[in-house]
Parts: sequence; C-alpha cells; structure tokens
Amino acid sequence: MKWVNRLAATLLGLIGIGIAREFFNRYDVLVFDKKDVEEARQEQPQEQKINAMDLRGTPTHECVCGSRIFYVRAVFDDYEIATYFLEMQCVECGSLATAPTPLDREIQE
Ligand SMILES: [Zn+2]
Repeated sequence: MKWVNRLAATLLGLIGIGIAREFFNRYDVLVFDKKDVEEARQEQPQEQKINAMDLRGTPTHECVCGSRIFYVRAVFDDYEIATYFLEMQCVECGSLATAPTPLDREIQE
C-alpha cells in the first residue's frame, strides 16, 4: 500500500510540473510593486499635461495635434447650446485653446 501512495504522489508531482511548465511557456509572469503601480496610475493624467500647450488667443477649429474634439463649458436653453465659454481643452492632448465664434468668421471675411 505504501508504494501505491508513493507512485500516486510521484505522478501528481510530474503532472504538476508539466502544468507549471506549460503555464510558464504560454505566459510571461510580471511582478509589480504595488507602490510602482499606484505611481504609474497617478502619472497617466500628468503625461497628458506634459504634452499640453497653451494655444489660447487665436480662435481655432482644430488642435495642433489634429483633434477636432474639445471639452467646452456650455449653457443650454430650449434643447440647444445658448452660450459657451471661449476657453476649451483638447480631448486628445489636453492643450488649451480658444473656441471660435460667429464674430471671428465675420472678422476673417
Ligand atoms: Zn490636441
């Protein structure tokens, strides 16, 4: 009976080693310090700020990064935008820019 237990233990050990070997062949195991992960998460928004520029002054439809989508503070009235602030921020790079107005179009024409 003793040798059956030893044989079973050996077989289980070999199967375990095979599973572990296959696991490490298929996957890369990376170990991160929790402190480093937390710091990396906090740095992500700051990275956007590093690339951001202050482009305020000249009204624009497009950011220098090519994006045409901006964060704008707006006021709604009767289901439409009634007014908006001229300061806007690019969604992609975080640069500050000046929103165009119909008055700017008249000046350019
Ligand atoms: Zn941009």
